[in-house]
Amino acid sequence: MGSLGESAPPYAAIETSHHHHGHIHSAEASPPTYEAYPTCLPETFPIGRTKTTPVVSTDLLQAHLTILGAFDALHQKVRQVGANDPDAAWAVFLARAVYRFQKWAPCAKFADTEVSPMPPLDVLMVWHSYLLNPRIYFEDGLRVFPNLLAIPSFPLLYISTTISPITFLPDTPAHFHKSSWESQTHLPYEYTLITARSETLDVPCPTCEGEVMVPVPWITDAGTGFAQRNFHAQCEYCKRSFSREAMCVRKFCNDVVRVRESPSNCFLAGTLLNPVTGARSDADAKLLNERLILTSIFKDETAAGVARKLNFRLRNVRTYTAASFHGILPQRIRRSLACYDDPSPFSLELTGAVLRQGSFIQKMVGLGWTAPGRFSGSAGDLNDVHVLVRCIARYHAFLDLMTSGVTFFVPTIDIDLAWHTHQLLNNKYTSDTTALIVASQTTTIK
Ligand SMILES: [Zn+2]
Repeated sequence: MGSLGESAPPYAAIETSHHHHGHIHSAEASPPTYEAYPTCLPETFPIGRTKTTPVVSTDLLQAHLTILGAFDALHQKVRQVGANDPDAAWAVFLARAVYRFQKWAPCAKFADTEVSPMPPLDVLMVWHSYLLNPRIYFEDGLRVFPNLLAIPSFPLLYISTTISPITFLPDTPAHFHKSSWESQTHLPYEYTLITARSETLDVPCPTCEGEVMVPVPWITDAGTGFAQRNFHAQCEYCKRSFSREAMCVRKFCNDVVRVRESPSNCFLAGTLLNPVTGARSDADAKLLNERLILTSIFKDETAAGVARKLNFRLRNVRTYTAASFHGILPQRIRRSLACYDDPSPFSLELTGAVLRQGSFIQKMVGLGWTAPGRFSGSAGDLNDVHVLVRCIARYHAFLDLMTSGVTFFVPTIDIDLAWHTHQLLNNKYTSDTTALIVASQTTTIK
């Protein structure tokens, strides 16, 4: 918790002014002394023993806030349309958004230029939350989604220019956005606000050999649709019924078979990165994976066969995996198995990630920070951009604290904004934080 590579922990009103170098303007919780604060960033900030040019800019923070405003507008719209049960309407909408993102991820291409086709807003929202879990995102990119990893950052500036200051939603997209999206994903560009009981998606049957796709409804009256809590379906081919848990177990078994077949290139989720630095570490991962698949239950069977032996229960996955480690699961393996608690190809439950991010967005909206022109006032105004300069300064002080060996630190909400913005510059974030962690290790005893 509180480590640089991880996603932002929940915020708490913790005082952050106890800064050991004293080079940052007093960072009192409230109210800030606006007039004393500069309206542009310094050339460098001290972090640890080095000086670092600012990792984010006020333009990026403003663009990010505009986009958060759009996500909020989308949320409001879905709740309004699904007014008889707005929470359920939002949950179904998010499940579909994750599925749409899943179709885009393998073929994703996107650049910070207006000639680049832009995915629809619901998909951007899921991608945004995924990026705020930088280590999972990085590892999933290495293992499963090279196209996502090839996109250096979330195109904040470009996306923000498409958002209408009236509706807070993207302007009607140009034809090439739609045609590109539709040819890549075979899904309509427009998201669905109200899901009908007749609408289905295809999921892989966990019990069939090979990959047999089964059409399942998003919602049913009994609450057994894929976007609902008690998901259950029957495969048309093998006639067996299955749950989400069976799909999770099969996802694990598919990976076990891949590791067994090509131990040099395939790794279970959550095992490829060094837990301290977050850097890719193939040699360690290979040893860990080899040891994990030693258990006889994982041998000489197809993925479906291994899943059957495990009786499609996640509990059995844990028990048999622990057998490879004298009955006690190492932290790294526990982290790995947690990646299989969701049946999607992602190593975290993205609907939950978007829901959690929603509470941060609510706070930004509540502060009025997402309102158009909020930071466009002239110098000395309360609406001045110095508020964002201050966020960025405090974020650098936070990075400095983190590299000084303070292991537990909960950032305040303004620091979170700068932190999230940095995380959205995924390539830069990964290299910046890895460099900072390596630098701090020379002074910190681990
Ligand atoms: Zn089947």
